[in-house]
Amino acid sequence: MIPISKAISIIRRQTVQLASERVDIERSVGRVLAENIVSDDALPPFDRSQMDGFAVVSVDTDHVPVSLNIVGESAAGRGWHHRLKRGQAVRIMTGAPVPGGADAVQKVELTAFTEETVTIFGSVKKGNNIVRRGAEVRPGRRVISMGARITPENIAVLAAFGYSKVRVAKQPRVAIMSTGSEIVAIGKRPGRDQIRNSNSVMLDALCRRAGALPTIIQQVPDDLSELKAKIRSRKTDVLIITGGVSVGKYDLTKLALRELGAEIFFEKVRLRPGKPAVFARLGNMLIFGLPGNPVSSAVTFHLFVKTAISLMQGAADAQLKTGHALLTHATRGAKERDTYLPASLATTTDGHISATPLKWIGSSDFIGYSRTQALIFVPAGRAYQAGDAVKIAFI
Ligand code: AMP
Ligand code: MG
Repeated sequence: MIPISKAISIIRRQTVQLASERVDIERSVGRVLAENIVSDDALPPFDRSQMDGFAVVSVDTDHVPVSLNIVGESAAGRGWHHRLKRGQAVRIMTGAPVPGGADAVQKVELTAFTEETVTIFGSVKKGNNIVRRGAEVRPGRRVISMGARITPENIAVLAAFGYSKVRVAKQPRVAIMSTGSEIVAIGKRPGRDQIRNSNSVMLDALCRRAGALPTIIQQVPDDLSELKAKIRSRKTDVLIITGGVSVGKYDLTKLALRELGAEIFFEKVRLRPGKPAVFARLGNMLIFGLPGNPVSSAVTFHLFVKTAISLMQGAADAQLKTGHALLTHATRGAKERDTYLPASLATTTDGHISATPLKWIGSSDFIGYSRTQALIFVPAGRAYQAGDAVKIAFI
């Protein structure tokens, strides 16, 4: 048995970053940047009004009310490109360029105006209601670094600097193969001794969320030659095999891998659930053998497969995000293995996050697992009381 950290460092060592490609910005969310995003201009590109109102010379408003001559109008997209003098004002709209000579904007609500003159009722100071050119960013600055994932939150930055196409890492192709003679397709009614394949769609969804391009392969029975043939015929960056990795008579995944000449890097991890997780390589294809129990499959995906998928994309977020939470119930870890317990999260009134270990009757209980928001880390042999602070991994 190797520690979880060792397993992860082996995966890191065996994982090679994929090439990059350029995609349309509209299709880039979820992808990992393979170039730095650099500002091609200042933002804002001109002194911009924050308000609908009047651009003025601020000292003119030292004593209010004051009447000023309206000499023009500056609208968004159509500025007034002359110089404002003392005693003058320009009607200005939000987002419009502030004319030269003006150094403040008074909002329309604090004015009264006709076609020719405006009366300003409130004083303004130099700079009021103006965002200066370059205040948000100066030209030539790196605004998002390579390795960041494109999200709904940061995509507008790409757009603002003209990245209609953006260079991103290629998506790892992942094939998902469930094994087990008892497993039937979701659309089938399970016969005697059979169960539906719930793992493949779950892993498919997890892969997509991690930025990969998954394909589900039809489930394979516990048959050595069929298993070998299916593994051998795969051409993919990553193959996930679920089931058949423990020590039962019909657990054939490792045997199939050995007979195919795959290099097996680990096959037992000090982890609960997920001890029999396997990591191997056949040619250029990385292979993960995950235990068939749905909760074990999910936990080992998060700890191991996700790391590989993220690193293949050069993602800066390859490590699980961790934090701390207060336990709502006492819990204990396995004696000799580190435990990752599925948990739901809440916030307490005094500003903490609380974690509730989900009720589950073992690693087969995917109904208990379905409300999982994080995994509670319990070191081997540790017991925790309600109220203890524990380390959690966000999933
Ligand atoms: P195994 O890892 O093959 O020993 O399987 C462990 C448990 O997980 C058994 O109860 C299997 O029936 C179940 N299992 C295996 N594969 C799947 C799957 N694709 N979907 C749901 N349950 C599965
Ligand atoms: Mg099995």
